[in-house]
Amino acid sequence: MTNFHTQNIAKSLELLKTELGGLPTPEVVNRQNLYGPNELVQKKPKPPWLMFLLQFKDFMILILMVAAIISGIVGETTDTIIILIIVLLNAVIGFIQEYRAEKAIDALKKMSITMTNVRRDGAVQNLSSTELVPGDVVLLEAGNVIPADLRLLEANNLRIDESTLTGESVPVDKLTETLELADSPLGDRFNLAYKGTLLTNGRGLGVVTATGMQTELGKIAQLLQGDEVDTPLKRRMAAFGKNLTYIILFICVIIFVAGWLRGEDELKMLLISISLAVAAIPEALPALMTIALARGANRMAKKKALVRKLPSVETLGSVSYICSDKTGTLTQNKMKVVSSFATEPFIDGIEVSPLLLVMSLNQDVNVKSETELQGDSTEVAIVESAIAQLGFENFQKLTQQFPRVAELPFDSDRKCMTTVHQFGEQFLVLSKGASESLMPVLNSPLNQQHLEEMSNSWAQEGQRVLAFAYKILTALPQPFSYETVENQVNFAGVVGIIDPPREEVKRAIAESRAAGIHPVMITGDHPATAAAIAREIGILKPDDQTLTGVTLAQLSEEAFLEQVENTTVYARVSPDQKLRIVKALQAKGHYTAMTGDGVNDAPSLKAANIGIAMGINGTDVSKEAAHMILLDDNFATIIKAVKEGRRIYDNIRKFIKYIMTCNSAELWTIFLAPLIGLPMPLLPIHILWINLVTDGLPGLALAGEKAEKDVMKRPPRGVNENIFAEGLGYHIIWVGLLMAGVTLGVQAWSLKEGGHWQTMVFTVLSLAQLGHALAVRGERSFLFQQGLFSNLPLIGSVFFTFLLQLAVIYVPFLNTIFRTQPLSLRELGICLGLAAVVFHAVELEKWVKGNLRKRGKKTITKM
Ligand code: ATP
Repeated sequence: MTNFHTQNIAKSLELLKTELGGLPTPEVVNRQNLYGPNELVQKKPKPPWLMFLLQFKDFMILILMVAAIISGIVGETTDTIIILIIVLLNAVIGFIQEYRAEKAIDALKKMSITMTNVRRDGAVQNLSSTELVPGDVVLLEAGNVIPADLRLLEANNLRIDESTLTGESVPVDKLTETLELADSPLGDRFNLAYKGTLLTNGRGLGVVTATGMQTELGKIAQLLQGDEVDTPLKRRMAAFGKNLTYIILFICVIIFVAGWLRGEDELKMLLISISLAVAAIPEALPALMTIALARGANRMAKKKALVRKLPSVETLGSVSYICSDKTGTLTQNKMKVVSSFATEPFIDGIEVSPLLLVMSLNQDVNVKSETELQGDSTEVAIVESAIAQLGFENFQKLTQQFPRVAELPFDSDRKCMTTVHQFGEQFLVLSKGASESLMPVLNSPLNQQHLEEMSNSWAQEGQRVLAFAYKILTALPQPFSYETVENQVNFAGVVGIIDPPREEVKRAIAESRAAGIHPVMITGDHPATAAAIAREIGILKPDDQTLTGVTLAQLSEEAFLEQVENTTVYARVSPDQKLRIVKALQAKGHYTAMTGDGVNDAPSLKAANIGIAMGINGTDVSKEAAHMILLDDNFATIIKAVKEGRRIYDNIRKFIKYIMTCNSAELWTIFLAPLIGLPMPLLPIHILWINLVTDGLPGLALAGEKAEKDVMKRPPRGVNENIFAEGLGYHIIWVGLLMAGVTLGVQAWSLKEGGHWQTMVFTVLSLAQLGHALAVRGERSFLFQQGLFSNLPLIGSVFFTFLLQLAVIYVPFLNTIFRTQPLSLRELGICLGLAAVVFHAVELEKWVKGNLRKRGKKTITKM
């Protein structure tokens, strides 16, 4: 392999058979065929057949198979066949669930593609970094993730964080000079940039030397693990499931021993205990949870919120503070200059006012044509205004007349920038920035006062105010730094820019307040500008506080903790202060979402419970650090995602409630029957049927339940709230008992009447589950409020399962398999009636709970 760091630029380009203008398209196609896409090959996914086979590894399935073999040995071949069919069905369902979950997660991964600016055929194109080939010439700017291994061709203040590769956490300064030492360590090859590392500073140009698995990162990619997809809830449930397994196995052993002692047939008792264990252990829950989360994440992506880490779908439901940037997220990012003030006199030899001069030259906008301007929106607005005042030709003349020779780039800590331009034998030093940043360096106290007054009054109207200044030097100071350059400048003028709030934001803020979530604005802007806009969109209420970065820096930790919950606007903060805000809110026990777009936002995005990056204006680095990406940069999208997160959590609770209540009913029925002197109510096949069919289909459909009307009207879920909170555990026990009660009641009655008691028991229990499925659709709202047909798959599955149950009762062939008998109309009517009792009992529970909640609220408000 060539050591590109020991080759000079010309030689490197020659070796890669390319040039500064980039590769021609036909050559790109050739190389793409030769090298393949520029991506790291992930661990090979499990092939579907293996996924299917692994379903049989499940402990419960193994037990069932043993049961099938025992039945076979003692001559009960029908039982053997039925159990085997059920095992197979179980495996198929398990496989489908796992397969779908994996596909959903894959689809999510594919959505987060990084884009790169590449020079091809002499022009710059923006394309997916997977399309890069060796020899491509790539443009780099602060915030990029390096898309491939590169030999640097240009480096302006280029600094790269290589910690992913070398472990070195301090960013490395990069250069383009040729190095001598061929075998120097990766971290010392200062003229190379490596795939996957983060460009924290500056600008540059590089030629691709290696792509995909050939890169340094690719070489160690085998060591990198895939993304963790287990959520805390899933892990907790898995642990809980394990304990539950032991308890259920223990109960089944007791049922077996008790039956055996009573003189029941041992084989029958063994099969019953095993079926019961298989039915009662909720082994499908973790897979169902992944499906619910992954499907939820897909729905969020359709609403323009791309979740990068699956656990975030769940965490979103607990968010109680959303800290959002102002520009672009709360506002439209359509800036427009609306006020300006220019000073006199003009500079000798220059025909435009100093203000227009600085506005035209001190900028990094890519001016493609008179109407096509690309770049930072503040600067675009300023340049647009300059062009409108000067005319496009004069503007262009001006930029050509005074070429830029040096710069101190914009820095959001300093909040200003300076450029230096050749002016004959002299230099024009032009600065623009926040008024507080430039005020102290102005050379006239009178102008300082003037600037302060103007900017305060414009800021109060919600305008972003920028000050402009200049000076003329005969030589550039050494060293060239902002301390030596930005001082004793002449005041050139001020402009005020408006950036109207997004239309949908006001409603989203009201909605988040109703949902008990506090919206907070964090901005680099002036406090008066920030407060004006915050008031307009409803973030700043009369009792809320505003803090500035300067005050925040002076506050002690205790003092800040005291204020943090009431502060809704932070102005003139620097990105590193965002981390402090997140930490303080977390210390107060809040789940905090934080938005960010720049390189410096990465630490606070990582530290937040939900770090949110901007899809359009965000840097790669911020996206890499975030848990979620807003594809439309819009605050309202966060609220939609929170709503979706709450809905999914509710639905997970619903299917846990449904499935576990069903299991509890089966356990109670079989456990209590002998205690009250009734014969064994169910056969193993009935139990397995209820578990597989009655439980399975509606359970899955519950995951797709629509959000309840009050999802965004209740406070966020407590951070440590258990999934069984709000009486879910009790529900499982009491509704299970109720179902067992009506079942055993029917059994006793039918035995006395000499009816088809076992078929009735089986049918009542099955239909009661279906009644329950309809009732648990709403946790707080009644079925008639949810609308019977608002979840069609659920209604469909309930109806279908009901038809299957009828088939099991009335089709003669199935009668022999399920050992059922056709019920009389009266008997069927009784079964339906009892199922309706269960349904209404659960609806009644909601009514009682609703009333208790209301009363609770009243007592709280009285206090
Ligand atoms: P927000 O935090 O509301 O999203 P922001 O991130 O755009 O806003 P910064 O970009 O840090 O905030 O800007 C802070 C201040 O710096 C602005 O109020 C403005 O006065 C000044 N400023 C912004 N852009 C430039 C620029 N290109 N050149 C000089 N000064 C700028």
